[in-house]
Amino acid sequence: MCNHGKREESETKTKTTKQQKVKSVKKKMTLMKFQDLPQYMKDNEFILDYYRCEWPLNDVVFSLFAWHNETLNIWTHLVGFLIFVGLTVMSLRDDTELGGLLGNLCRASVSGPLMMMTVMKMTDLNISSTQNVQFPPPDSHLRQISLASSIIHANKENGYDAIPRWPWFVFLSGAMGCLVCSSLSHLLACHSNRFNFFFWRLDYAGISLMIVCSFFAPIYYCFSCNPYSRFFYLSSISVLGILAIVTLLSPSLSAPRFRSFRATLFLSMGFSGVIPVVHALVLHWGNQHIFVALGYELAMAIFYASGAAFYVSRIPERWKPGKFDLAGHSHQIFHVFVVLGALAHSAATLVVMDFRRGSPTCGY
Ligand SMILES: [Zn+2]
Repeated sequence: MCNHGKREESETKTKTTKQQKVKSVKKKMTLMKFQDLPQYMKDNEFILDYYRCEWPLNDVVFSLFAWHNETLNIWTHLVGFLIFVGLTVMSLRDDTELGGLLGNLCRASVSGPLMMMTVMKMTDLNISSTQNVQFPPPDSHLRQISLASSIIHANKENGYDAIPRWPWFVFLSGAMGCLVCSSLSHLLACHSNRFNFFFWRLDYAGISLMIVCSFFAPIYYCFSCNPYSRFFYLSSISVLGILAIVTLLSPSLSAPRFRSFRATLFLSMGFSGVIPVVHALVLHWGNQHIFVALGYELAMAIFYASGAAFYVSRIPERWKPGKFDLAGHSHQIFHVFVVLGALAHSAATLVVMDFRRGSPTCGY
């Protein structure tokens, strides 16, 4: 009887422990309100609810398919990542069985705006046909450099292999790296204080990586015939990028007192793009491809600037706190603009590649 009583008591204890465990797991899996979050997770006071907080890693990973206030932040960049994976696959298979998909995309990027420009020219000048503006006059030094370069790089005479494609892949890798780092950060940072610290730094580093990789391809193709300028621009942006990545990954330099230093670093990375753009315009003045590429780059700048404006202002959730917790808050809008900006830059790069393909040996 006594033993039976003890057994019952221990069974009850086991049941209670199990129930407590289930309760604690349920508690961990509950979405939390902003006011109940630990200090390190309090970032946006206008998003009031639906936070995952210190969930077990398994649950955090599977929350990819659940509704919380990071779901759309994860998916906006995951979809962007998949678009760039698609572009990479198309580029890799371009000269094999699919042949020409990238070429078609490129021609679409060039021909639409060119057609518009032609129509505008015809309307303005009232002429029946518009001819491409000629390249600058021949230059023997440039011709020698370009011939040497084309012998090293060229595989085919007409086609994308006539120009090296690795700078295009550098950009695609940077875009994919940035977007996947961002998705992972939004998915996993809520797991613990350590994860939070690591993943948000990884996210910033990913942005720096994308900026550097974005510069690479247009500079490489625009300055193919100007190796000194090309070397200068590419090495400058690489040094700035490495500096930015080291800064953003280093715990000592991520302190609030270095905030202005980090902001200056990002701003100088972004604004340094104006110098090679102006230089390229001067070098290739009158070339319609360069004007079309510039149009796409302006679109990119507008997309990024709009995204940054939402990011900084935290509109619309600032206007109605709690109304945009799940969908429509500023960070999601910022993510969409980042993907659009990267796509506009892809179009610009394809146009510059088409321009360079038209003159693989500098064409002067
Ligand atoms: Zn983000």
